[in-house]
Amino acid sequence: MHFDVLTIFPEAFGSYLGESILKRAVQKKIIRIKLWDLRFFSRDRHKKVDDRPYGGGPGMVLAIDPINRGVKRILAGSRSRKKSRVILFSPSGRKLDEAMVKRLSRYERLVLICGRYEGVDERVAERVADEEISIGDYVLSGGELPAMVLIEAVARFVPGVLGKYESLEAVKGSYPVYTRPEAFVPGKKQKVWKVPQVLLQGDHRAIADWRRKAAEAKLAKNRGKVD
Ligand code: SAM
Repeated sequence: MHFDVLTIFPEAFGSYLGESILKRAVQKKIIRIKLWDLRFFSRDRHKKVDDRPYGGGPGMVLAIDPINRGVKRILAGSRSRKKSRVILFSPSGRKLDEAMVKRLSRYERLVLICGRYEGVDERVAERVADEEISIGDYVLSGGELPAMVLIEAVARFVPGVLGKYESLEAVKGSYPVYTRPEAFVPGKKQKVWKVPQVLLQGDHRAIADWRRKAAEAKLAKNRGKVD
């Protein structure tokens, strides 16, 4: 699986992508993450990639030409356009969820376009990207964090990425977990915070049953009714 990220801040990715699961997956060549500096595709002497918005208003807009050139160049290295997906990060895009992440994990290549400033020339959404994705209903300063979120979420679904200590759990099956101490004393004269008894008794069926119910109850408590 190839992730190609088009960004004006490639150096923002290094420390996160160089740790833990993603680092191992890259080392094992299960995934490949390539960071492309958008400025590299600028035809401007000063490597400018933005300009003022038509119609006026504050801030700058990432221009169509460097993005279009960058995406073309990246896709030129693809075996099949159909197996590649070009994604533009946008706060008004479709919200990323587990079903989308699974769907995206079936592509061979994801090209991730990170916006900045006041956003990206709309022709990128209209003509260059296959879809626009948001990671939540709030506005960030750029698409770099959304790209890292998407890479990690998708990579977890790529066979071989998770090691034996990590599990590919679904949001719905995400049950509460505890570790030692069995009885935690938060302070003097305070009640002890205990681990549920069922987890201490070694009855695996009872534990599985408890975990299923506890996962449902937790989701319902945080998000309302679960279907
Ligand atoms: N009004 C602009 C728009 O709708 O694109 C906001 C631009 S925002 C300050 C700069 C860039 O950050 C966006 O172009 C997008 O790439 C990224 N971004 C910000 N919030 C995001 C979110 N919640 N999900 C995905 N990308 C986001």
